[in-house]
Amino acid sequence: MTIERGWLDEEAGAEWFTLLRGASSIDEPYLGDSVCGYTGDDVVHYMECRKNLALILGVDVSDLIQTRQSHTSNVVFLDDSFFVKDVGSRCGCLQDVDGIVTCHRKVAIGVNTADCVPVLLCAAGNVPMIAAIHAGWRGTVAGIVVKAVDCMVEHGAKIEEMTAYIGVSICGKCYEVGDEVADMFAKAGLGESDVISRNDVTGKAHVNLKEANRKLLVKVGLDYHKITVNGDCSFESPDKYYSARRMGVNSGRTFTGIVLHK
Ligand SMILES: [Zn+2]
Repeated sequence: MTIERGWLDEEAGAEWFTLLRGASSIDEPYLGDSVCGYTGDDVVHYMECRKNLALILGVDVSDLIQTRQSHTSNVVFLDDSFFVKDVGSRCGCLQDVDGIVTCHRKVAIGVNTADCVPVLLCAAGNVPMIAAIHAGWRGTVAGIVVKAVDCMVEHGAKIEEMTAYIGVSICGKCYEVGDEVADMFAKAGLGESDVISRNDVTGKAHVNLKEANRKLLVKVGLDYHKITVNGDCSFESPDKYYSARRMGVNSGRTFTGIVLHK
């Protein structure tokens, strides 16, 4: 098992990570490492992957927290009362949730993606706070990253202390969308040419999800220079990431998350 990892804010002890697929066949959509339990993978396989990933991250396997995403813009704040719940009750709290915020230490919060974009946030300060967000086109036009920032501010974080990591997703060149989707981006104030473009040959609209989310974060007040953007494309790198457009929705997922180590 291989993960990519790095400090989002070293002083705050906030480390981001991405679980790499570690397989390259596009005809075997579950081949490789994945911890996602709701896209058809074998339970023994994803539970084994959960165990291995928790070991690498240095957290208890029950503290590897993932949302049950459904392209909503729902964000939950997980306080201490969440972490004393049993696994079943925890799952109930995470149903139809696409963003998690917490101050809890030594737990990994993350989201599963296969072309959508994972966004991680850290707010330094006396009590550091972290967030993990799943943003597909629906979540992006609904401003889920802004809702996550709002949730952090409501719980005492300061925007000027925030850093962000925008993880791997499909790139704008590979992400063709219908005109109705492109229109929704324009209506959401995301009509700039580096977000929506047209293919010269096909005339089809293309959307750059990473850039759209970076713009949303900058508009809400994050420092552009404190936002790191992963340069890979999930569609073009089946050896590292899952891609629903390439392998179908019945496939593994790439897990991207964040831990507060201290
Ligand atoms: Zn691409």
